[in-house]
Amino acid sequence: MKKVAVFGSTGSIGQSTLEVIRNNPNQYQVYALAAFKSVALMAQQCIEFNPQYALLVDAQAAAELKQSLQNIPSCTTQVLVGVRELNGLAKADYDILVAAIVGAAGLQSTLAAAQASKTILLANKESLVMSGQIFIDEVKKHGAKLLPVDSEHNAIFQSLPSEYQKDYLNQDICDFGVKSIILTGSGGPFLNEPLASLSSKTPAQAVAHPNWSMGQKISVDSATMMNKGLELIEACWLFGVQPDFIEVLIHPQSVIHSMVRYLDGSVLAQLGAPDMKTPIANCLAFPQRIVSGSEHYDFITGSSFDFKAPDFERFPNLYLAKQAFKLGQESTTVLSAANEVHVEAFLKEQISFTDIAKFNQIILESYQPAAVDDIDSILAIDQQARRLAEQKLQEA
Ligand code: NAD
Ligand code: MG
Repeated sequence: MKKVAVFGSTGSIGQSTLEVIRNNPNQYQVYALAAFKSVALMAQQCIEFNPQYALLVDAQAAAELKQSLQNIPSCTTQVLVGVRELNGLAKADYDILVAAIVGAAGLQSTLAAAQASKTILLANKESLVMSGQIFIDEVKKHGAKLLPVDSEHNAIFQSLPSEYQKDYLNQDICDFGVKSIILTGSGGPFLNEPLASLSSKTPAQAVAHPNWSMGQKISVDSATMMNKGLELIEACWLFGVQPDFIEVLIHPQSVIHSMVRYLDGSVLAQLGAPDMKTPIANCLAFPQRIVSGSEHYDFITGSSFDFKAPDFERFPNLYLAKQAFKLGQESTTVLSAANEVHVEAFLKEQISFTDIAKFNQIILESYQPAAVDDIDSILAIDQQARRLAEQKLQEA
């Protein structure tokens, strides 16, 4: 029986994780749940899974959760609160962390789990984007295990040889005959819309992803393809390669989740219905296989597959991500932080859809911090980039 901590349990990935655990009750036990402030959903999850700990970062929400669980005698969950206790909980007595908090807020607890030598199932791509080198170094130093939940990275991982998978952070992918990585992306809801219409797209249109059901932030990132940019950076750190080693390919049906091209001309891919329960189950059971609860893909009734090259005019964020990676982890932190501020402003209808990339570029070009090698400095850069982004928004 493996003890699992789910950080970000009330979100899209968190709920999918609990669904996989629900389908495998004899193998996994929920040890801890953590989220920001969704009291009702967290209470429901506590009543169902009776974890040892449940944490809400928001103090008011944590107090309400405690109150509502008091009347449930079968639920013995202890309620924790705040960021400090979250980072402490990351080091507690469990086996597997599902790191599914969204954005920079997920960085410190994921890093704490690495320092406690845990097995980390990484959904929170922002932590690798912000602190790639530091994060990978900590994972290696403490003998933690890192498995990619992000569907593309999970697909790439599955398409690589088992000899490589066993110790992939310490291996050179080129020693295994790999020529390149093909990172696929759907192109989001506006792939075929006239360019001139993009500036008037609403938040509701942007979050309506054609294939995947996801949280709001990542859905907007999919529409701007910033998500693919963040994933390109994530793939560079995970697989120890440069951006030029990665071919980004638009595949609107989201059935091929990514591929690996080998020297001999072979291309290996991982396919399946677009459902995050599959990569989550793959990571939970690795190297075994378990039932995930996701639909099995039907090739006869499914649509045919299309492919297209990405276009930087439509998706300038993809270009910015490549530029930022070349500048270093400080600049990818700046871009990621600025993007969080601008996505939030777009969701609040303060800026237009095309303004997201426009303002991201302004911040990336106007703030190029010096190289740093510790997490506090990264977090300071993150804060400074946010302040600058907010200031520029006010001036605009
Ligand atoms: P979501 O918005 O649905 O859920 C986010 C979760 O994080 C919630 O539980 C929320 O309570 C928690 N949270 C938010 N702010 C927090 C804070 N300050 N402190 C603690 N907890 C906080 O997001 P999601 O779509 O589930 O995505 C989660 C992460 O997984 C993101 O990094 C995303 O990029 C990544 N990811 C998601 C998908 C997907 O299909 N949804 C796929 C690949 C990767
Ligand atoms: Mg993805």
